[in-house]
Amino acid sequence: MKNDLMANDVFKMASTQFDRAADYLDLDESVRERCKWPKRLITVTVPIQRDSGETEVFFGYRVQHHLSRGPVKGGLRFHPNVTLGEVAALAMWMNWKCALMGLPYGGGKGGITCDPRTMSLKETENLTRRFTTEMLPFIGPETDVMAPDMGTNAQTMAWITDVYSTHAGHLVPSIVTGKPVELLGSEGRNQATGHGVAFTITRAFNKLGIDDTKATAIIQGFGNVGSHAAFTLSRYGVKITGISDVTGAIWNPKGIDVEELVKHVAETKGVKGFSGAEEIDPEEMLIQPCDALVPAALERVINKGNAAKLQCRVLAEGANGPTTPGADAIIEERGDIFLIPDVLCNAGGVTVSYFEWVQNLQHYQWTEQEVLTKLETMLEKAFENVYHFAQTNNMSQRVAALALGIHEVAKVKATRGLFP
Ligand code: GLU
Repeated sequence: MKNDLMANDVFKMASTQFDRAADYLDLDESVRERCKWPKRLITVTVPIQRDSGETEVFFGYRVQHHLSRGPVKGGLRFHPNVTLGEVAALAMWMNWKCALMGLPYGGGKGGITCDPRTMSLKETENLTRRFTTEMLPFIGPETDVMAPDMGTNAQTMAWITDVYSTHAGHLVPSIVTGKPVELLGSEGRNQATGHGVAFTITRAFNKLGIDDTKATAIIQGFGNVGSHAAFTLSRYGVKITGISDVTGAIWNPKGIDVEELVKHVAETKGVKGFSGAEEIDPEEMLIQPCDALVPAALERVINKGNAAKLQCRVLAEGANGPTTPGADAIIEERGDIFLIPDVLCNAGGVTVSYFEWVQNLQHYQWTEQEVLTKLETMLEKAFENVYHFAQTNNMSQRVAALALGIHEVAKVKATRGLFP
């Protein structure tokens, strides 16, 4: 299995990052191995009837990386490229993210290899319900708490809640987070990841002496993360000059009107053809001059091919794993880019998920203002911890963030000891 995982490019990348941080921490070999490999790798087949009447069997995965610090936490992804190796890498990153933020969770991630863009609502519902049913023996509010990720949303979480609660015989809202607010979801959860991305960017601007109202940003990906990051950044006064998604990329040096773009995307399902901007090649967009570049889509988009050409001051990783280790080396060598690593930059989502879980367990609802204020306090603290750790130890922000997260997990593994 170790070899199978290592054959996957994304897992190999997560593993390389882990090794760098573990080397720095000089982790004891036994603790190191226990931290690195996932506890449970669950694969299920998910048969559903398509609208055509045909039966189709999909493959679904859930990786529970470790349960040493609490239930595993992490999203569920519906995407054609989902593989067990990718899900395992994403689960590993969730560990370090939760530990860095001080959340009482291990990392988890799930996915179904499917193309939600070609499925009807009914088919997506059936897929979600059947996957949840297959997962019933493995999930629970104290074991594994899922949340939205790429291709899934609050409605997906509502279906999971319904299946789990029907089996339990009573409503169990704490089984997932990112639910619709009327089904005991948290205020602020929907915008939390993008809001956090924008907030950490302003923290980085502050360190570099960049004025928000004179700054520019380019955003790759206009899903939940990219769109809310764009919204919040423009509210702070940052000009968004470029935005891309699967349909193409758009460019306007005077600034893109994000509210108008959201309307255009709602109508046409993509940024392409937006009248308030010109078209630009998506790869070219990434290497235009800007203050903040925000990859907020898939993994490995900043790589050896474009890292040397980047012209941003801040690289803010809205996505999980957007920068390859090869690109990391180039960026570290250059020394002129302030990296906000994924486990910090996009941690707003899982942090508000934690708030949602806590509210559900306490049967209490906080206001949006309370949620966002608490979120900013926690992000600010983690941002400062990473910044000072990196400065003090003369290391990259990536290694600093991972080392801080891994250290928390390693301490718990060491104190709990090896059973039997
Ligand atoms: N999918 C999100 C992430 O990658 C959120 C996970 C969660 O809220 O549990 O961080």
